[in-house]
Amino acid sequence: LVTSKRYILTLDEVAFTFPVREIMSHKYTYGHVAVIGGSAGKTGAPSMTAQSALRAGAGLSTVVVPASLNTVFEIKLTEAMSIPIPDAEKGHFGIDTIDEVVETVEKGKFSAVVIGPGLGNEPETFEFAREFIRKTTKPLIIDADGINALAENTDILKMKEQNIIITPHIGEFSRLTGLSKEEILKEPYEIAKEFAEEFGVTVILKSGRTVIATPNGKVYINVIGNPGMATAGTGDVLSGILGAFLGMGIEMEDAAKLGVFLHSLAGDIAAEELSQESLKACDIIDFLPKAIKRIK
Ligand code: AMP
Ligand code: MG
Repeated sequence: LVTSKRYILTLDEVAFTFPVREIMSHKYTYGHVAVIGGSAGKTGAPSMTAQSALRAGAGLSTVVVPASLNTVFEIKLTEAMSIPIPDAEKGHFGIDTIDEVVETVEKGKFSAVVIGPGLGNEPETFEFAREFIRKTTKPLIIDADGINALAENTDILKMKEQNIIITPHIGEFSRLTGLSKEEILKEPYEIAKEFAEEFGVTVILKSGRTVIATPNGKVYINVIGNPGMATAGTGDVLSGILGAFLGMGIEMEDAAKLGVFLHSLAGDIAAEELSQESLKACDIIDFLPKAIKRIK
């Protein structure tokens, strides 16, 4: 067993990659994040992703959602926009609209795309997600059911040329790799590193000790954050932060490091103020401003 070198993420190391906002900049300077997701019963996930992208500094964010749920998003989201796509059946994406979605996203001025939050696990939705990943040329963050969809054909990743970050928790990574959770937990660094190198993507393997593995073999460990973050939706918030950073043009490796660190720092400040028990995902969004101020 070759043990890879791994580095602990520190504030000093991530802080200098945070971009300065220029006087003559405008919203497009800071990128436009598209979030593809949502299904009946899961409208909160993409909403949080879109909102956390804006809180992390994205210039614009748009959710791409099943049309039957569009009104829900219109009401939930104020700053973020929405693009309704005809449903397959009530409340989820199907394969028939794949060309429409690919065309909309490719022609849009989106600088990064997050696919997965709240997508749901219908077979046709999985097929839709795989086809979207196969066809899009945009920088991608693949999360949640986007990862579960990929598990059926992981090799799609090998054909991609753009920057891609995948954000599995241990269960999703188990599905993706075919390894048991126990096997992954025994050697998380090595397994994340091997996957990142083999498939040419950045892996953010999420847990109480999140591991970041890059396509060129670097491994980082995040040691901040707290168990209060073990609550519904915190992963969706992370994918929005990552979408913002990749979308504003931060290098993929720096975006992953800065995103993971900032997410945990906001979680720590939230827990300090509210208690770990009471912490919920939207609190992490609400404490991003304080976390950013501490980083800068
Ligand atoms: P998800 O499972 O996709 O909702 O993602 C959960 C998020 O919360 C990830 O960013 C995890 O790293 C974080 N998280 C979950 N449990 C803990 C924990 N015990 N300590 C610190 N962070 C955690
Ligand atoms: Mg998740």
